[in-house]
Amino acid sequence: MQTNAIYNQMGVSDAVLRFGEEVLSGLRERFDAIDTVAEYNQAKVVCAMQENRLAANHFNLSSGYGYDDDGRDNLERIYASVFHTEAALVRPQITCGTHALALALGANLLPGDELLSPVGAPYDTLEEVIGIRPSVGSLREYGVSYAQVDLLEDGSFDYEGIRRTINEKTKLITIQRSKGYATRPSFTVAQIGELIAFCKQCKPDVICMVDNCYGEFVDTIEPSDVGADMVVGSLIKNPGGGLAPTGGYICGRQDLIERCAYRLNAPGLGKEVGANLGLLTSFYQGLFLAPTVVSGALKGALFASCCYEKLGYRVVPTSKEVRSDIIQAVELGSREAMVAFCGGIQAAAPVDSYVTPEPWPMPGYDSDVIMAAGAFVQGSSIELSADGPIRAPYAVYFQGGLTWYHAKLGILMSLQKLLDAGLIEL
Ligand SMILES: *Cc1c(COP(=O)(O)O)cnc(C)c1O
Repeated sequence: MQTNAIYNQMGVSDAVLRFGEEVLSGLRERFDAIDTVAEYNQAKVVCAMQENRLAANHFNLSSGYGYDDDGRDNLERIYASVFHTEAALVRPQITCGTHALALALGANLLPGDELLSPVGAPYDTLEEVIGIRPSVGSLREYGVSYAQVDLLEDGSFDYEGIRRTINEKTKLITIQRSKGYATRPSFTVAQIGELIAFCKQCKPDVICMVDNCYGEFVDTIEPSDVGADMVVGSLIKNPGGGLAPTGGYICGRQDLIERCAYRLNAPGLGKEVGANLGLLTSFYQGLFLAPTVVSGALKGALFASCCYEKLGYRVVPTSKEVRSDIIQAVELGSREAMVAFCGGIQAAAPVDSYVTPEPWPMPGYDSDVIMAAGAFVQGSSIELSADGPIRAPYAVYFQGGLTWYHAKLGILMSLQKLLDAGLIEL
């Protein structure tokens, strides 16, 4: 077949292609289910754009202070509609997911307050934000304490431990939906809803925030539909649809979002300022494409889990589990296998396909990290990418692919590199 010929030309052998086809033949029904969610979410996004009367003038550039920027304000109304929240802050001035999370935390925690993570350790880069690892400007430096309740052995919530740990100082509870660089399962929106209900039962006025990175549009509901007071994420992940060149979002209760805007800009200025710098078309169009892009990434993640599971590797989630984010962890067991896997992902990229990823120290991470990405937007992980810290269990975290076909190519290439290195047999 013509397609196989071009795959061969790109270095994928017939053995790998056969293996891939065999795995794929069992996935049709699962792919249909992913498409069904995407169709609903596409309608949800279009509906939000229509309800907010999106029009060509909303794409206009603003500069300087950005006063009266209706395009910026309408994007925030549309995000609020999609996430069913009172308000949203969606800005290019929010540089990444970590910044959005730091903003939401810093704006809503005051000296003497306590932050609680009831789901174990948070994402690596939040360690310095919180002050788990000492850092200049951390919450800890400002007198905000931190408490953590780990998950139980079987990965479930330690409700008794949570009840015991919530105290009169507990102001905000942070729940990370996605596993991040851990090998626990990601939580479904329904599970997050149960956890929030429990926390609010323990302390009705506690603020529940969800780190929604990588989770957007994987399900038909979002954490804000099950009681989260704030949901937070990055625009160079799911909701940017691959088109947003930077940015982050926080959707939630009006009073909390107002504080975030005061913190991002300045007290008194809040949401009234912030130039859009001509980026709004990419934000709007990226949001429009996001449900479909996420569905392609999900198919890639599922395909990867099935391939590597079949080869005997531990994968999280397994091929049978319900997915709540676009990340696929594969425990490869060695540094060499991580380098080979990432080499394959890199070799499949449209950009920088000729470079070889190497493990390297990264700001915000405490071990060397290997990253494969050949992206149109630097660091974008809704684009096909793989990364992981070089430490046991030597897991790579594979995610993204703006199209299913590209994700498929990346996985085939990763298999090829492992085969070439003599690390697998097909
Ligand atoms: C990516 C990610 C972050 C941080 O986002 P950056 O954009 O890389 O700063 C935080 N939490 C989770 C779960 C993530 O996946």
